[in-house]
Amino acid sequence: MTSASAIHLHARATAGFESRVESARRLLARAANAHPDAIVQASSLGAEDQVLTDLIARDRLPIAIATLDTGMLHRETLALVDAIRARYGLFVERYRPLHEAVVAFVGRHGDDAMKQSVELRKACCALRKVEPLDRMLAGRTAWITGLRREQSSERAAVDFEATDDAGRTKLSPLADWSWADVWHYLDLNDVPYNALHDQFFPSIGCAPCTRATALGEDFRAGRWWWEQGTKECGLHVAGPASAIGAAR
Ligand code: SF4
Repeated sequence: MTSASAIHLHARATAGFESRVESARRLLARAANAHPDAIVQASSLGAEDQVLTDLIARDRLPIAIATLDTGMLHRETLALVDAIRARYGLFVERYRPLHEAVVAFVGRHGDDAMKQSVELRKACCALRKVEPLDRMLAGRTAWITGLRREQSSERAAVDFEATDDAGRTKLSPLADWSWADVWHYLDLNDVPYNALHDQFFPSIGCAPCTRATALGEDFRAGRWWWEQGTKECGLHVAGPASAIGAAR
């Protein structure tokens, strides 16, 4: 596949960048202080989350870092777990789906269930993402996401701080950051990032459900591209307690 440096393509210094960085740092520090031993970064291991992990490490904040290991991630995505350990000495918690549930689902619907219908796609996301996210958040009172308003129309009103349906504090410190900001930060701080970003994958989820995008396509156009409408997996929508959650 053709590749090009995502930093070269996207990084750009724009007015207000330093103040956005400082605001994000303050928000993270305040949240860590307010939720001792009960706050987690729900990392997708995407570019935004790598910024957040770097900010957490930079200020040595007592915030756990965790990811949803759906069993369908690209090896490039999983490689970041080791890269984070090597760079920062931080352990990334991995939450996997229940083995029996996956075996039963795949046995009944096949490996390509997610492409057979929207309902089956959502069922796959429910067992591989939403249920493990519930476990990740259990016993925690706050969580951090890499959501940005610019990512999609569904995310245009993302708040820096909100309360989810389970009563937890949900923080999105990069809500007002642009894609150029994200890459400018990664460049300035030499932060490790997913190699797939250099292959024109702006938003990275599970391998069967993510493709590269073409110039001019929406940020999330490479996610569930065979479906029309909302490009969300149920993790960031209001609803029952189990239908709220981490980025991907
Ligand atoms: S993104 Fe695709 S493979 Fe991953 S949990 Fe959702 S439907 Fe399943």
